[in-house]
Amino acid sequence: MAKVKEIDDRFKKFGTVSFTSITKVNDFVDYLEKGKVAGTKCKDCGMAFFPPRAHCFQCLSSNMEWFEVSGTGKLVTYSKLQYAPVGFEKDLPYAIALLDYGDYKVFGRIDSSIPDEEITIGMEMKTVVNQLPNGQINYVFQKA
Ligand SMILES: [Zn+2]
Repeated sequence: MAKVKEIDDRFKKFGTVSFTSITKVNDFVDYLEKGKVAGTKCKDCGMAFFPPRAHCFQCLSSNMEWFEVSGTGKLVTYSKLQYAPVGFEKDLPYAIALLDYGDYKVFGRIDSSIPDEEITIGMEMKTVVNQLPNGQINYVFQKA
């Protein structure tokens, strides 16, 4: 049987980061629709992945399970964008950031309602699902 390439319709709903390299995007968007941001964890070696991956690159296992990104992460770095990828221009300016949750890191954007001067490296933030006016879903980082 030839492998049929799956067309990813639900992916269109996701408005923040390009997730074209991951294979479990459909499930990821399902979690978003339930108000959850999820990654995958390797059942064999325990390695956690965000964005979710279908295979563990550490032990090459495909024995993965979903976990919910919960609690708070530390802001490792962020960058205010003046230029955005095609499709996100009207969102400018926004800040992309990386939160360190210990076992994994989450890449995303900072809630635009947070003033620049209140954003500091090392601050605790949480990842929350955000419903956009155009019907798309993404997630943003808010102050914990
Ligand atoms: Zn593994």
